[in-house]
Amino acid sequence: MKNVYYFDEGDYKNRRLLGGKGAGLCEMTHLKLPVPPGFVITTEVCKSYYAKKGSLPGGFMAQVKKGIKRIERDTGKGWNSRDDPLLVSVRSGAAISMPGMMDTILNLGLNDTTVDALSRSSGDPRFAWDSYRRFVQLFGKVVFGVDDSKFDKILDGAKKDAGVSSDAALAEDSLRGVVKKYKEACRKHTGRSFPSDPDEQLELAIRAVFKSWMGERAIVYREKYGITPDVADGTAVNVVSMVYGNMGDDSATGVVFTRNPGDGTPGLYGDYLINAQGEDVVAGTRTPEPVASLRKTMPKSYAELERTCRRLEKHFREPQDIEFTIEKGRFYLLQTRAAKMNAVAMIKTSIDMVKEGLIGRERALVRLDAGQLEQLLHRRIDTEAAGSHERLTTGIAASPGAATGLAVFDVKKAAEMGEAGTSVILVREETKPEDVPAFFAAAGILTSRGGKTSHAAVVARGMGKPCVVGASDMKIDYSSGSCSAAGTAIKDGDEITIDGSSGHVFLGRVPTIEPSVTGGLRTILEWAGKAKKLGVRANADTPEAAKLARSFGAQGIGLCRTERMFNAADRIGLFVEMIMAGSAAERKGILDKLGRLQRSDFAKILRVMEGYPVTIRLLDPPLHEFLPNPEELAGRLREMKPGPEERRARTVLDRARELAETNPMMGHRGVRVGITYPEIYEMQIRAVFEAAAGLAAKGVDARPQIMVPQVGSLSELGAVRDIYDRIRAEMEKKHSRKLKINFGTMIEVVRAALTAAELAGPAEFFSFGTNDLTQATFSFSREDAEGKFLPEYMEKGLLDTSPFQSIDEDGVGRLMKMGAADGRGRRPGLEVGICGEHGGDPSSVRFCHGMGLSYVSASPHRIPIATVAAAQATI
Ligand code: ADP
Ligand code: MG
Ligand code: MG
Repeated sequence: MKNVYYFDEGDYKNRRLLGGKGAGLCEMTHLKLPVPPGFVITTEVCKSYYAKKGSLPGGFMAQVKKGIKRIERDTGKGWNSRDDPLLVSVRSGAAISMPGMMDTILNLGLNDTTVDALSRSSGDPRFAWDSYRRFVQLFGKVVFGVDDSKFDKILDGAKKDAGVSSDAALAEDSLRGVVKKYKEACRKHTGRSFPSDPDEQLELAIRAVFKSWMGERAIVYREKYGITPDVADGTAVNVVSMVYGNMGDDSATGVVFTRNPGDGTPGLYGDYLINAQGEDVVAGTRTPEPVASLRKTMPKSYAELERTCRRLEKHFREPQDIEFTIEKGRFYLLQTRAAKMNAVAMIKTSIDMVKEGLIGRERALVRLDAGQLEQLLHRRIDTEAAGSHERLTTGIAASPGAATGLAVFDVKKAAEMGEAGTSVILVREETKPEDVPAFFAAAGILTSRGGKTSHAAVVARGMGKPCVVGASDMKIDYSSGSCSAAGTAIKDGDEITIDGSSGHVFLGRVPTIEPSVTGGLRTILEWAGKAKKLGVRANADTPEAAKLARSFGAQGIGLCRTERMFNAADRIGLFVEMIMAGSAAERKGILDKLGRLQRSDFAKILRVMEGYPVTIRLLDPPLHEFLPNPEELAGRLREMKPGPEERRARTVLDRARELAETNPMMGHRGVRVGITYPEIYEMQIRAVFEAAAGLAAKGVDARPQIMVPQVGSLSELGAVRDIYDRIRAEMEKKHSRKLKINFGTMIEVVRAALTAAELAGPAEFFSFGTNDLTQATFSFSREDAEGKFLPEYMEKGLLDTSPFQSIDEDGVGRLMKMGAADGRGRRPGLEVGICGEHGGDPSSVRFCHGMGLSYVSASPHRIPIATVAAAQATI
């Protein structure tokens, strides 16, 4: 079997086999771009390495040797040569890029003999020894697992001894000493001397890359990003001949994006470092220069870089994130991949690329990650209020959005506090790949070092977390847990706010404001609106939410929950009185008052949604949810003095106990309340009709629909339909006009899905309540599943995603398909939609499109997601 592909043999489309990095290197080689010669070891070898418990396929190393031979031919250098030694990098690269998640070894092939040869051939002993010390450090860390801090300590010691502050200022002699001590540290760790045979080095390095695939860091990353074996199974290994950015002042290394990944602005965006190698730019140990200055320092290379970027964008039709190295004025490419960008940048580049004729509208929509759009709709700093807040510092704006939290300097502590639910801002000099778990847990990240392409910036952007980097006037003292900048100091645990859009860091909590749909997003939503077939409505219970939803493009309200209205401060008291009422007559009196309040609520919402359907759901929760918790109330009662207040509290307690249920989710709720207390539903239905009649009289095009929750049988629905018919006749007579208000049912009880054909008799529309339907289909209690056993199901691979997040197509989806088909069989053209969390989940939206639903309904902030996902489903 072919385990090794030379760069001119690989096919870009086969990313699964070659990994993203390898496929990119192959493709660039085909394009005749200046890529150093090398080869890819396939992901199949990694899989077999694990299947065979760490042994490599037969004949594999021979294939690797052949690859090295070809690099020798192509470069004119020799493996283990005493004249002009060939050195290589050994780099990982899975099908899905996991930036910085697995380690790269540079300058492999060096030993005490080849280092001298490299000194001679380059004419620069300092460079040779600098390369050697980098190699020993990376090899020691990656292959042997020696802690980085051991190497850091040795290097710091050497700098102190030599009286210099930067690595680059260390002379050859000091570097010789460092290499010796590095090797000694490795020997101590492994009990054997540092391997000097390049063949042995290479095999060990390849094995180490395979091993890193199952390293904790990589596993956590894949879990968090949902990278399952069907998208990336094992890593490839890239063996690439070294080019040197550390050969003096006409050499450099850098990372650039072809467009700004923070806001999408066209033009190169990135950093470079003169006389540096590999990770120096991302590691944040030296502060790099913005790439624009390369135009002045190395104009020829800059021009080549620009030309190359244009070429790559044109070829891949996607902004790229590239790595380059300049060796003595010669330009090389080391990597290209589709740039990870935040939502703002994705949208801007989609629109720009359409304008530039690089892509069409369909591709512009399809390339968007619909779920990511939610980032745009998060709150932003209120710039006016920010004016009066004291500023700690200003750094480089690396990932937009505002975050407030407690400043925490310790990575572990930040991860723990964040996971426990505290909002924290991780504050560090720089970050490393092993810090990623703390990124997930933190609300934002702040560093004092590093540039726009530093590790912290790249990772935070990928996650859509606010991030400020390179706040260089900030001095962090980890030992005392404090940090100061320009005379202001904070301690570990102080509250700060970072603004990843401006780079400002404030003391305390700065107010934020609701975002709005503007510019690019508006254009995208217009395009998506034209392309999609599925309707998109909102779950909204208040006029404010309805307004917001409409501004985000909602075409109606798919779910208006009436119980939320009863919980408002000015009516919860009345509602409790209603529940406490001793007789139906007494209850009726209170319901009249509540009816007037509901009527005005409905009228306001209907007015905001003029011209669009508004589906109003009759009361769903069990009544005791509106009463105080019995235990709490009993506790308060014990402290109360006898008197009228105490007597009333006692009756409330009795009633609360009487109504309490063992299993409220499956208890006396929804239509069951409507059956036992028909006067409540009567009041609500009447309020809807009154609101509609009032608006109709004023010429407002109000389109309410009435929806019954928790229905499981025709008789239940029929009973409510009778009330509806009676009130409708009464209202039409009273207002002397026809009132068209559709009557429908939720399908969220399994029996409803099974008897949908019957329900479509009285029901003029269906709405799948997929939250409850999922709960009922799995017999998973939502309240318990998500916190208790579901995470373990996912860890163990029993479930890919939570069925409460994405519709379970085989089970719940099957019930939906059946219900929709049966319903439409009985009543052709029946409107069928879904409300529930799934309405804002891209994969569920795709499913709903596929089964021909009329619309999905999602919370206002997820309307743009649903809209774009609905458009993508048609492409
Ligand atoms: P990552 O996936 O973490 O970016 P890479 O394998 O891309 O890891 O490499 C890490 C760094 O080393 C990058 O800056 C890359 O450009 C540099 N590098 C890798 N291979 C070579 C090489 N053959 N010559 C020079 N620099 C290299
Ligand atoms: Mg890289
Ligand atoms: Mg429900």
